[in-house]
Amino acid sequence: METEGIYTDIKPFAVHDGPGIRTTLFLKGCPLRCIWCHNPETIHREPELELTASRCILCGKCAEVCPRHRIENGIHCMDRAGCTACGKCAEACPSGALQICGQKITVAEAFRILTADRMFYETSGGGVTLSGGEPLLQPEFCAELFRKLHESGIHTALDTCGNVSWRNFERVLPWTDLVLFDVKGIDPEVHRKCTGSANGVILENLRKLDAQGISLEIRMPLMPGWNDSEEDIRKAGEFFARFRNGPVRVRLLACHDLARSKYAAIGAPDTMPHGVSLARIPGIAKMLSRYPVRIMN
Ligand code: SF4
Ligand code: SF4
Repeated sequence: METEGIYTDIKPFAVHDGPGIRTTLFLKGCPLRCIWCHNPETIHREPELELTASRCILCGKCAEVCPRHRIENGIHCMDRAGCTACGKCAEACPSGALQICGQKITVAEAFRILTADRMFYETSGGGVTLSGGEPLLQPEFCAELFRKLHESGIHTALDTCGNVSWRNFERVLPWTDLVLFDVKGIDPEVHRKCTGSANGVILENLRKLDAQGISLEIRMPLMPGWNDSEEDIRKAGEFFARFRNGPVRVRLLACHDLARSKYAAIGAPDTMPHGVSLARIPGIAKMLSRYPVRIMN
């Protein structure tokens, strides 16, 4: 049987997910629960129903196929309890307001789609990025797909939160040209508050990647008041200073709340803090410049 992955989206012409022009495949399922998650639809591994209320034309077709939908006083209402994400209502919906998020895809199909823009990769120094969610929760799919891409000369980048078994990295690394590694906090308590998980496995995996000389770009999402204090930045700088292969390339990511509507679409509690961190980036870059890092912004 062909190896399959489960994904939420394929984004062509991506310019923030590694060098050059890329296509990014977003895989579904993540071991972390970051409060600021910009892709909450990728957290759970299983398919789920997305409702974009602004697209609803109140036709009532969904209510004809499933009792979880109803039109009440001119408003579309939905009871998500017991929804199996069977997709019947999405099939009936004429406006695209209802969609199933999370589709299966084979390696061969993903390879066909992802190589369509090969010409742009070649002229821009780009390639393919696997993101999510956490791609390494689907290691067989990632390894097979990256092997095929790598063997056909396409640059491969893996965007990971790092919170997986080292064995999963080992499956994929032989065909990975660049690892984009998220660092959300060095202090274990700060990390737990921001993501719901400890960071021991993450930092250990990062040390191993550095020890093996893997091409790395660290990505630091910064949320005001959560992980961007002077103490947080000092700890990050001291951690990077112990890398064998410096200077460490670091990209600082300003958090925003543009993805807030995605939480409502999947019926998930909105955990995003308010506030953006763009104005803090230059100051944080200056603080980090005391350490052997190269800021990529
Ligand atoms: S996905 Fe299936 S179970 Fe869920 S609301 Fe739609 S029709 Fe009903
Ligand atoms: S089928 Fe779609 S457009 Fe019609 S009421 Fe249901 S969600 Fe709205």
